[in-house]
Amino acid sequence: MSTVATKKKETFDSLDPRTGDVVGTHPIHGEPEVTEAVARARGAAAWWSELSFAERAEALSRWKGVLARRMGQLAQVVHAETGKPHADAQLEIVLAIDHIAWAAKNAGKVLGPQRVSPGLLMANHKAAVEYRPLGVVGVIGPWNYPVFTPLGSIAYALAAGNAVVFKPSELTPGVATWLADAFAQAVPDAPVLQVVTGFGPTGEALCRADVDKIAFTGSSATAKRVMHACADSLTPLVVEGGGKDALLVDEDADLTAAAADAAVWGGMANAGQTCIGVERVYVHDRVCDAFVREVLAKAGGVRAGVDRAAEVGPMTLPSQLDVIREHISDALRKGGRAVLGGLDAVGERCAQPTVLVDVPDDSTAVTEETFGPTLTITRVRDMDEAVRRANTSRYGLGSTVFSRRRGAELAGRLRAGMTGVNSVIAFAAVPALPFGGVGDSGFGRIHGADGLKEFTVPKATVTKRFDVPLVLTTFARSAAADKAVATLTTLLHGGATTLPRRDGRLRRVARKAASRRGR
Ligand code: NAD
Repeated sequence: MSTVATKKKETFDSLDPRTGDVVGTHPIHGEPEVTEAVARARGAAAWWSELSFAERAEALSRWKGVLARRMGQLAQVVHAETGKPHADAQLEIVLAIDHIAWAAKNAGKVLGPQRVSPGLLMANHKAAVEYRPLGVVGVIGPWNYPVFTPLGSIAYALAAGNAVVFKPSELTPGVATWLADAFAQAVPDAPVLQVVTGFGPTGEALCRADVDKIAFTGSSATAKRVMHACADSLTPLVVEGGGKDALLVDEDADLTAAAADAAVWGGMANAGQTCIGVERVYVHDRVCDAFVREVLAKAGGVRAGVDRAAEVGPMTLPSQLDVIREHISDALRKGGRAVLGGLDAVGERCAQPTVLVDVPDDSTAVTEETFGPTLTITRVRDMDEAVRRANTSRYGLGSTVFSRRRGAELAGRLRAGMTGVNSVIAFAAVPALPFGGVGDSGFGRIHGADGLKEFTVPKATVTKRFDVPLVLTTFARSAAADKAVATLTTLLHGGATTLPRRDGRLRRVARKAASRRGR
């Protein structure tokens, strides 16, 4: 059992948001237990970091195997703690398994020792860089994708050779415990992945427990508190914060149906509780009416409910219903219109799809993360206006462009960490791509090579191979050496027109010197 044993008696329950039934009871870990977990993790990190990349890949592969074989069981825990449909729970597990596989397979290639050019001035040296594990990484996670989201940090931190102490959301501790138990089954040798459970203070204790980095995923407001806690000990931090993602629809009319489908799924899937979910849509004037018709036809067929037939489940965090209600109400008060749903769509446990039009830019439905199944659709004169209005958000996580001819161009102009062109949210499912945002959406990256490097420290090594007459790093340096290096620099950098030939000649001189000394 890799969940940290508690000395305290305090516990809390995780609840099924469909019924309010207790799914599981978990300890509230305080500062002593968190500190102990980190101390144990440090011991485990010493062992884990000494394994070769291939050995760690093998261990991660065993873990991934457990997840794949017992996927149905894990999906059931996700389903129970979040209320999302079983098939959606399974989908996030499938994607997470793919990320574990990618991280395990590519860690050696990305992080292992690599030769780099020493440059002309240091041509008698060889230079290399490798990326070493940090030690212990604290991962703080949210509840909305309790497998996919934290594993985006955990899998990459582990593959890079770190031990992990994971503090999941208080809404989904059962999922986290399941994941850590599965890891302990695959890697029984040392507590490389541990879970501490509790509320905000448990997360704060982890920030202050002398870990080597915190990977935080959650709301931007909490990220600021986490950063504050990390500041006291200069603990570095990666922040995967909230979003207010925009979807742009260009006038290429035959994409209207596909774009509408993407807007509805991107906005309503998981009851809108998706950090990279679509919340704002900007549509070219020429196709706006057709687009709204398509959206209404599709969104009208989406029902939130607690029964098995419902397309989306209840709100996992009940208080989110108040946020959705407030945003709709603010939009309506400021002149917006609900063409689907509206205030009546927000019930006791579930929020039905709402589509708002004519919503002013200063409405909270446009400026704040709603995290519910709502879309604002805004008509724009042209795509320049769409880009300008999309970019006014203080968030900048994901984004989407539907355009046949101008997809790449418009994507390049969007201020967001990730953009899908003619497809929505796909970037999260490509393990090789970095995932993260700008502005209030955070900083640092998970996934891909950047995500592996995020949990490492680069180690640079330079080794002298032979002596040369021109030695720069000595007090015995001669005036002639200073003159020679000044001349060399002028030749290399002083004039663009003569540079290539002279550069080539100097390289040949350096190469000759090297071969004379039998390197
Ligand atoms: P949250 O900010 O309420 O909580 C996130 C985690 O932080 C939880 O584990 C919580 O217990 C912990 N926490 C709370 N206070 C803390 C403190 N003072 N110190 C340390 N830890 C503390 O977020 P949430 O409601 O669980 O998740 C929803 C939010 O997460 C949304 O804003 C969503 O956009 C965001 N999110 C972002 C991504 C991404 O990759 N960018 C992915 C999923 C969710």
